[in-house]
Amino acid sequence: MATAHKTRMLIIGSGPAGLSAAIYGARAGMEPIVVQGLQPGGQLTITTDVENYPGFREVIQGPWLMQEMEAQAVHVGTRMMYDIITSVDLSGPTFVATGDGGDTYEGETLVIATGAQARWLGVPGEQELSGKGVSACATCDGFFYRGKKVVVIGGGNTAVEEALYLTNHSDDVTLIHRRDSLRSEKILQDRLFANPKISVIWNKKVDRFMPGENGELRALALTDTVTGEQSEIVTDGAFVAIGHAPATELFKGKLAMDDTGYLLVEAGTPKTAIPGVYAAGDVSDHVYRQAITAAGAGCMAALDAERYLAEREFERLKAEVAA
Ligand code: FAD
Ligand code: NAP
Repeated sequence: MATAHKTRMLIIGSGPAGLSAAIYGARAGMEPIVVQGLQPGGQLTITTDVENYPGFREVIQGPWLMQEMEAQAVHVGTRMMYDIITSVDLSGPTFVATGDGGDTYEGETLVIATGAQARWLGVPGEQELSGKGVSACATCDGFFYRGKKVVVIGGGNTAVEEALYLTNHSDDVTLIHRRDSLRSEKILQDRLFANPKISVIWNKKVDRFMPGENGELRALALTDTVTGEQSEIVTDGAFVAIGHAPATELFKGKLAMDDTGYLLVEAGTPKTAIPGVYAAGDVSDHVYRQAITAAGAGCMAALDAERYLAEREFERLKAEVAA
């Protein structure tokens, strides 16, 4: 039988943004509910080494970090729900999310922390070699390719930025693009073409990622999109940078988004256009997309939610006194 769950702060998503919002919300007495979704712990659960999350001198594992965050959130009073939200009603005054099995979650405030997923090419070897030479995040994994040869696939701003970033670690970076021109901004293209560590291979699509004897990535099989000629490029690392897809389907027609689907928030805050509804982390951030920035945004969302409820309560009491 479907159950109705009520809370002062409802959080959709259990990545760094959702769990940080929960930690702050719980400590503020809002007894938050986190609906975890298909990927409990979020994107970091599909990676291994994390070296840039502050507080840990040694390399830590992504899944371990997220288990700790969840344990901390539960420890301070968060209720975790294993459910997937399939629809939302943001008409207010409370916000209602409905889960896969019909349970409803009613929040006096709502934090949307549904994240984003890297787009993958979907070719053979890609998923098998993910974490073994294939990655979708140069900021996260570039460090592991110090002094090695790497390739980046894509032709947008992300691909060019990833290629430029990788030159901090590698002197041999190749950008592989399926057409003969980039769609990234001119200033980034100028930097790319001026960088002696980067070469560009035009008109090539990746057919598959191939392992070496050690089970790690060895090479990519390519096809020329103009001539059909087949070739191979040997590399230590491959970064797929063909865009990200924010998980915002639920909010179409209900909240403002940019033309790539990221939720729009008031600059410098997690506030959406609906008072009491916040968007935190990768779902509203196509620029930074890091665990620490997502966690920071989750914290901000919880602080804003707490202030919103306090102000509402103050207005209610004022009206009561005046009556
Ligand atoms: P996510 O982590 O994407 O979490 C989204 C959550 O929303 C998930 O729990 C999901 O189940 C839930 N959700 C989605 N839809 C629904 C729904 N309908 N109902 C309920 N729940 C829903 N960053 C770093 O700082 N350092 C790194 O080393 C690093 N390495 C990375 C390696 C990889 C392979 C990847 C993919 C990313 C890496 N990142 C790294 C980036 C980092 O993981 C993200 O920036 C961060 O996880 C974003 O957090 P988030 O909470 O906004 O969203
Ligand atoms: P994007 O602009 O959509 O570019 C994706 C690139 O990947 C395109 O070059 C596309 O090729 C290529 N691609 C897509 N599918 C492919 C496939 N299956 N095989 C091979 N190549 C494929 O994505 P993005 O670069 O991630 O940028 C997303 C948004 O974020 C953009 O609005 C961008 O401006 C913004 N962004 C801004 C900054 C910044 O301002 N500094 C940084 C990063 C991102 P085609 O060109 O042939 O379509």
